[in-house]
Amino acid sequence: MQLISKQMTGYMEKSSWIRKMFEEGIRMKQEFGETNVFDFSLGNPDLPPPSAVKDALCEIADQADQPFFMGYMPNFGYPHVRERLAEEVTKEQGVDVPADCLVITCGAAGALNAVFRAVLEPGDEVITPAPFFVEYTFYAENHAATLVPIKSKPLTFELDLDAIDAAINDKTRVIIVNSPNNPTGAIYTRAELDGLAAILEKHNAKRDRPIYILADEPYRFLAFDGAQVPSLLDIYKYTILCSSFSKNLGMAGGRVGYACVNPAIEDKAPLIGAVVMANRILGFVNAPALAQKLLHKALGSSVDVSIYEARRKAMADVLDSAGYNYTMPRGAFYFFPEAPGGDDVKFCAKLQEEKILAVPGTGFGYPGYFRLAFCVHEDVILGAREGFAAAREKA
Ligand code: PLP
Repeated sequence: MQLISKQMTGYMEKSSWIRKMFEEGIRMKQEFGETNVFDFSLGNPDLPPPSAVKDALCEIADQADQPFFMGYMPNFGYPHVRERLAEEVTKEQGVDVPADCLVITCGAAGALNAVFRAVLEPGDEVITPAPFFVEYTFYAENHAATLVPIKSKPLTFELDLDAIDAAINDKTRVIIVNSPNNPTGAIYTRAELDGLAAILEKHNAKRDRPIYILADEPYRFLAFDGAQVPSLLDIYKYTILCSSFSKNLGMAGGRVGYACVNPAIEDKAPLIGAVVMANRILGFVNAPALAQKLLHKALGSSVDVSIYEARRKAMADVLDSAGYNYTMPRGAFYFFPEAPGGDDVKFCAKLQEEKILAVPGTGFGYPGYFRLAFCVHEDVILGAREGFAAAREKA
């Protein structure tokens, strides 16, 4: 069997939990009616893009009769969009990022794949704290590398630095740091990230190729109660930042994001060149022209974060009143509570009896917990109150 066919088989098995729940949701909504099913299975942001996106779209429409309106461009993206993006990333990260360190990509997923293509050699290992965004497995395998999940600490999901240290070997090339985190909502503290950087620097001193941190940050804009998301560009030299506008501008289908090679890397030009080349040869060629034009005008605006704040509070109230055990998410739009009774798969089946759809932690490499995505209307959260209580009592 060809490698990709084998991977597809693995994909179907490994990602089946989210897919299964998504399909169950469609079936149940048909059977019981849209408003009687409480679907927390998918992280597909439901908020409309900010008004700046619509305004930009109207303005851009007037230019559609110009030559090259949708023409080819440099593989790194439109130069003027890259310049504008550099200003925004500089502000957000608190680190001076020049435009030539940026490659505009097809979302964070496109950035992750371009970076992996640029730095991984066959047989390399990519460490990720677990639980983790399940696509990482396939992205690593796309480039003949292996994903090595290292369990984070129970319930708080702090990094287990000793376990990460012990897992590093000659094949380790990348560690992914996704903060705010999908699926836990954790934001790693400055102390944790300093600790991680110290471990990587210790290993780098004994090797001739560095270990990169790939900072995956599409949820950076969603940090609650004034929580700070420390900049890894500032903390660790060999950082490559990947992010997107799927969540903060509600443009997930627009497919636009970026990779940013840390300006602090002395010999960074070949690495940036490799990411640009990978963006090209993976068939992306460049990020979509229209999405880049929208981005140019809408950068700096955001979906209404106060709506997510209200939903997070509502979800916490519902879980508290039913007696669930969880760590309050500091960012992103997910809760990752303990599964009452310990068996996450069985417990999600109990929730399903109450017409609530959640994804077992097993689907994220961390059994014993389950994920709730709160990018749904507040009525869905409040409507599920009794079902959450009933499932908890039955467990
Ligand atoms: N990384 C994480 C942790 C995500 O949750 C997602 C999407 O849900 C992505 C990357 C990819 O996002 P996109 O390619 O839409 O920017």
